[in-house]
Amino acid sequence: MKFTFITLFPSLINCYFKDSILKNAIDKLLIKIDFLNPRDYTKNRHKKVDGTLIGGGAGMLMSPQPLFDTITSIKEKDDNAYIIFLTPSAKLFKQNDAKRLSGKKHIVFVSGRYEGIDERVIELYADEVFSIGDYILTGGEIPSLILCDAISRNIKGVLGNADSLNIESYENTLIEAPSFTKPDIFKKNSIIKEFSKGNHGKIATLKYSLSLLKTKYYRPDLYKRVKIEGNNNEK
Ligand code: SAM
Repeated sequence: MKFTFITLFPSLINCYFKDSILKNAIDKLLIKIDFLNPRDYTKNRHKKVDGTLIGGGAGMLMSPQPLFDTITSIKEKDDNAYIIFLTPSAKLFKQNDAKRLSGKKHIVFVSGRYEGIDERVIELYADEVFSIGDYILTGGEIPSLILCDAISRNIKGVLGNADSLNIESYENTLIEAPSFTKPDIFKKNSIIKEFSKGNHGKIATLKYSLSLLKTKYYRPDLYKRVKIEGNNNEK
């Protein structure tokens, strides 16, 4: 899978791939990373990439021409490149999207800056548009990285143990049960005691109950769906 980041600040993103799982994925040729900077494509003699808003308004907007030309240069080489724009006004990115998009061959993330991107660029080129949450960041670089990371984990071979993917939060409606590692320093925890006995049937039942409780506590919105979908063993 190839990821191309269109950004005015490639160094903000590049450092993330210098260590840990995504570095290994690059080393193993499972993912490939590329950067294009719209400033290299601007026809403005002062290398400007932004403009004031038509009709007035605060701040500046990323101008269409540098972005049009950057994206065109990608499409000329790979017409199937899948173009994703990051904006706070779009639908929320979810785990299902990460799984689905892990089947693509080439994803391009377009990061906005300033007050965002001229809407015509999004209308012309977006295959999909995502937000990472209902808050405003200074740019699309962190959102792009978040999508890239979540998608990459679902590519075969990227995680050391692919089973990790099956039991995680958001794989079904529930979030993951609490987990514990050795040594058992608190000794008196009855859940850890039960987990340590190795009765896998009992552990699975216990984990399901804990998942329900955790979902109810942290994500009442999801918990309501569990009840509607009738997955709930609780009376
Ligand atoms: N004026 C825009 C608005 O009110 O919707 C906000 C622009 S924001 C300051 C600049 C850029 O950061 C956006 O174009 C987008 O690429 C990125 N961004 C900020 N928050 C985001 C979020 N929650 N999800 C995805 N992208 C975001």
